[in-house]
Amino acid sequence: MKDTNCRYCTKGEDIAGIVADLEVSTLYLTKDQSYKGRCILALNDHKTELFQLDPEELQAFSRDMARASKALFEVFRPGKINYAAFGDTYPHVHFHLVPKYEGGKSWGSPFELPLSPDNLASKEELDARIKEIKSRL
Ligand SMILES: [Zn+2]
Repeated sequence: MKDTNCRYCTKGEDIAGIVADLEVSTLYLTKDQSYKGRCILALNDHKTELFQLDPEELQAFSRDMARASKALFEVFRPGKINYAAFGDTYPHVHFHLVPKYEGGKSWGSPFELPLSPDNLASKEELDARIKEIKSRL
């Protein structure tokens, strides 16, 4: 089921470039790349809580999460990937996948959630990163 007012249901290009459609979710690269490789993994169906997924969908979503984070790890070699789900403002199951780098921005503390218009990667950089991540999926 889709919600036409939901940016994840409509796969709004305004928030990010689409990396790939996975089993039951879509992987987006965010335009703000102050954490190199930052992505969002959003469920394809409009559901707001993990417990609303049927068991098979939940397993597939976990596989998508592992597949996406492995690709990010292989491409960007972060010290750690942070995973976070909030959704107060956009209540559609999605996780922030945020590579963190030892000694880099917010290392050892929570990443800065808001996407900043001051840290937008160029179209060329975004396209190159999307291509690299895709090649590892
Ligand atoms: Zn939605």
